[in-house]
Amino acid sequence: MTQRVTATIDVAAIRHNLRVVRQYAPTSHVMGALKADAYGHGAVRVAHALDAELDAIAVACLDEAVELSDAGCQTPCVLLEGLIDRSELPEVIARRDRLVIHAPWQLDVLRRASSEARIPVWIKLDTGMNRLGFDAARASAIFADVDAMPQLQLLGWMTHLANADALDREATEAQLAQFFRAVEGLPGARTVANSAGLIAYPEARQDWVRPGVMLYGASPLEGRSAAQCGLRPAMDVCSRVIAIREVSQGAAVGYGSEWVCSEPTRLGVVAVGYGDGYPRHARAGTPVLIRSQRVPLIGRVSMDMITVDLRGCPEAQVGDSVRLWGDGLPAETVAEHAGTIAYDLFCGLTNRVRYLERGA
Ligand SMILES: *Cc1c(COP(=O)(O)O)cnc(C)c1O
Repeated sequence: MTQRVTATIDVAAIRHNLRVVRQYAPTSHVMGALKADAYGHGAVRVAHALDAELDAIAVACLDEAVELSDAGCQTPCVLLEGLIDRSELPEVIARRDRLVIHAPWQLDVLRRASSEARIPVWIKLDTGMNRLGFDAARASAIFADVDAMPQLQLLGWMTHLANADALDREATEAQLAQFFRAVEGLPGARTVANSAGLIAYPEARQDWVRPGVMLYGASPLEGRSAAQCGLRPAMDVCSRVIAIREVSQGAAVGYGSEWVCSEPTRLGVVAVGYGDGYPRHARAGTPVLIRSQRVPLIGRVSMDMITVDLRGCPEAQVGDSVRLWGDGLPAETVAEHAGTIAYDLFCGLTNRVRYLERGA
């Protein structure tokens, strides 16, 4: 079988990135975020690479936890959205997954539950993101409620930072202050930090940290590169040049004839498009790497192809490998040209992409 678009996952880089997490937060337990198929890196693969080294695995939902244990993963899973429906509870109890409780309806379901072993729960407080969580001001009342349910085992308290990646620190400092005030004197562990929080805010490195994107080697911070954070990219996405064309001045390239050549142009057609997860909104000028040189995208991204300007790389030939992101071309850079974030590129790869692995 030929390999058209490949995503090579460097599991040694993922292990390295976990060591970086431990350097930033040496006394914290680590709950690695492996949700969304480990941000497109393959949850089973990443779990096997890190299984013995993570203290817990954060997934979005029960299905993702089941996939991991079916594959032999032993690390306890935390369901970040908790129950999606009450019908999940018997399976969650039987599997001993850890639940995040973030809404009154979930407490009501648990109130009526009976379980031989106590159900381990994190309580999520909202400190300003206004997405999931109980109002932080109600923490004591929620605690009293949970404490009165012998079927529950309170692991601790969680909140999520909305702006930890931003240069402006004010909003995050307010969230941190609100959280610490809310849980003061209450029993249980604390967990606040995603990747950005644990790098940029030492006070956010509490009993547990919850790194996601940094495990995969992308920078979580505005204005700081992955390399500056000590991280190594773990995903390398490549395709190939399948045609080279000499296009005359004034000729338009691709759908909508949006790109018009201002001079005779040698262009390359690369076998990757939005049907593979290459971002359709990547603008003209988005770089790709051919023979270690950055050459710019021109014209619109199609389902199966993109076109690139080869004027800066005259030695390029049909069959050349083309790196879309990875070593030498951070996903963050490509994402910025496409008006998105690296997370979105990672998660967006489709099942047409062939996965390979190195560093095992
Ligand atoms: C996804 C997620 C994380 C990890 O976030 P990163 O920005 O990828 O580090 C941490 N906590 C919660 C609640 C999440 O949903």
